[in-house]
Amino acid sequence: MPELPEVEALAADLRSRVVGRRIQRVDIAAISALKTFDPPPTALHGQEITGAGRYGKFLDVAVGGADQRGSVGELHLIVHLARAGWLHYRDAVPAAPLKPGKGPIALRVRLDDGAGFDLTEQGTQKKLAAYLVRDPATVPGIAKLGPDALTADLATFTARIRRRRGQIKGILTDQEILAGIGNAYSDEILHRARLSPFAMSDRLTDDQVGTLYEATQSVLADAVQRSVGQGAASLKGEKRSGLVVHARTGLPCPVCGTLVAEVTFADSSLQYCPGCQTGGKPLADRRLSKLLR
Ligand SMILES: [Zn+2]
Repeated sequence: MPELPEVEALAADLRSRVVGRRIQRVDIAAISALKTFDPPPTALHGQEITGAGRYGKFLDVAVGGADQRGSVGELHLIVHLARAGWLHYRDAVPAAPLKPGKGPIALRVRLDDGAGFDLTEQGTQKKLAAYLVRDPATVPGIAKLGPDALTADLATFTARIRRRRGQIKGILTDQEILAGIGNAYSDEILHRARLSPFAMSDRLTDDQVGTLYEATQSVLADAVQRSVGQGAASLKGEKRSGLVVHARTGLPCPVCGTLVAEVTFADSSLQYCPGCQTGGKPLADRRLSKLLR
């Protein structure tokens, strides 16, 4: 799943490629992916792309503007890529309209110079969500976001972590507490902070929260630095190459050499280093039901 660093890099990639271009046409191939109906996608036709950014893990493509003659006012195409969604920039988009169907392409934006980008989703679970809105804050998932994990200062971070009692893995990945961290980077952050994923948030000392804050900042900043400048096509490989424990079950921890262990859930898993994070003890799977809400 794309998390804060990847979405940041996708936004940077879009800024360098499409800002200033005009949208010729938007095709929706997966009707269920578009969660809004007003304004209609045709409102984007002929409008200039003016910016790209993100809210947590949501990608925001800004279009049009109030100061442009004939403009509809600023619109935002907001996309949540979910677990298997991705953005593919294309130098040349086929001229024929996209036909609704069962393929991986959910939405296609064709620009006036023939280039464009596709939003795709692999697999059968279709969770990618696109919203066309005048105000990003009207997207329910954005309205509920906590402060951005990368820009929160220590005081804000501490207050958010202490806001709810729960296992720290679940707290870190709760978008309403802090925005941007998902399954992969929470594993990396907890490893760098040498904390068990099952540590209870209300039992962390101020020192431990301070260490967790430093780990969050450094893991995310490192990942952003590695990712930004990479095109969408090479981002996934870049993400994998930077991971120390996540998706590395059975491989040696680069810090202490202990083999990375994992805990599996119904539809996900977490990885951790017993040597660095749990005093050498394996975490029991039976505690799992209590982990993620
Ligand atoms: Zn280790």
